[in-house]
Amino acid sequence: MEFLNPPLFLFLCFLLSSSYPLCSATPHLSVSNEAAIDYQGFLNWAREDELFEWIKRVRRHIHMNPELAFNEYKTSKFIREELDEMGIEYSWPYAKTGIVATIGSGGRPILALRADMDALPIQELVDWEYKSRLDGKMHACGHDAHVTMVLGAAKLLQKAKDQLKGTVKLVFQPAEEGGAGAYHMIQEGAIENIEAIFGLHVDNQLRTGAIASKPGPLLAASGRFVAIIQGQGGHAVKPHKAIDPVLAASHAILSLQQLVSRETDPVDSSVVSVTFISAAHGHAIIPDKVTFGGTLRSMTSEGLSNLARRIKEVIEAQSVVHRCSASIDFMEKIGRPYPETLNDDGMYMHVKRVGESLLGEHNVHLSPPVMGAEDFGFYSQIIPSAMFWLGIRNVSVGSYHSLHSPHFFLDENALPIGAALHAAVAVAYLESQASRFH
Ligand SMILES: [Zn+2]
Ligand SMILES: [Zn+2]
Repeated sequence: MEFLNPPLFLFLCFLLSSSYPLCSATPHLSVSNEAAIDYQGFLNWAREDELFEWIKRVRRHIHMNPELAFNEYKTSKFIREELDEMGIEYSWPYAKTGIVATIGSGGRPILALRADMDALPIQELVDWEYKSRLDGKMHACGHDAHVTMVLGAAKLLQKAKDQLKGTVKLVFQPAEEGGAGAYHMIQEGAIENIEAIFGLHVDNQLRTGAIASKPGPLLAASGRFVAIIQGQGGHAVKPHKAIDPVLAASHAILSLQQLVSRETDPVDSSVVSVTFISAAHGHAIIPDKVTFGGTLRSMTSEGLSNLARRIKEVIEAQSVVHRCSASIDFMEKIGRPYPETLNDDGMYMHVKRVGESLLGEHNVHLSPPVMGAEDFGFYSQIIPSAMFWLGIRNVSVGSYHSLHSPHFFLDENALPIGAALHAAVAVAYLESQASRFH
């Protein structure tokens, strides 16, 4: 009966096709130019009225009910209910709210599709029917869309679960926004036995219908620091009786600017930005201490740890010069540094090829590296990974504001594309890797 459904028929043709090139036994994919699979069947199916309406309902429900990092309890429950509805098994909790669902044979090869679930502490300023119902919380980074697209892929994949040549894991993780949710998922065993992982992030710069990425480092390694310079307060008209931490902090902050301009290879990308500074207020008072802090970024973890070492040395040394003492906290417990997001060459090529078949070559772009950070980087340090940007830019519907803006608005036409791409990447991966295990 299912073969009477044209989109499903195309989908099963896709699954049964042996024309997708098989890979060598190396962990890296090798992809030829001979793929002749009809990926369009996935997309047509995802765009059908019934499925598209469901996709929009799911996304709007999550958008209206945003939850912050490690508090995604209702979102997690909603996802589990949808998985129950589809008859998909899962295990949970990982890292408080995380879920790992399983579709397919249970055996190798095993590919994961990743979605992050958390929202941001932002008041939504978009007036629309499905606006956030919770003051001060908003899905302004599109993680509601990420969850929806992986659930959409689950629908597509579950229909043909018996034909899958391996296993697809759906990884729903908490706390991408600063909480290193991916790190905690890994610590709790969420990606054990998984051989490769794929993730999408929406991009307001890229128009709907397009995707982009690059091989190698895509996003920066990122860390944060807070420094406290301790002096000795006193009257401002008797500076010689005090030890001035303001002067020490000023010199330290100026010296930090030279770490990138004088100590970093100009072809390597790095950032050190001091973003806040505070001390006791008073025009005639030299304060006891000054607190300041900011962010550090590098395209490599090694570059990040070098920067951290030098930030510590510079602040301590400048403090000593000005008779102060300093303590520097890199916030590893509450704001764990993120490693760079490193796209595996083989996985990148795999997704690129699938994307070209699904969306057309003209819609698959090469992205420049970006100094933003993503906790997807934790996965990419362990297993072959690929993260791609998914275009959502559509000025006619108001979808152009930047991520993390209170005006952020998402073109929902991107959702079936993301769902279909997830499913196509997964099925093609299993097809290409199956010969290693059978
Ligand atoms: Zn974000
Ligand atoms: Zn995000």
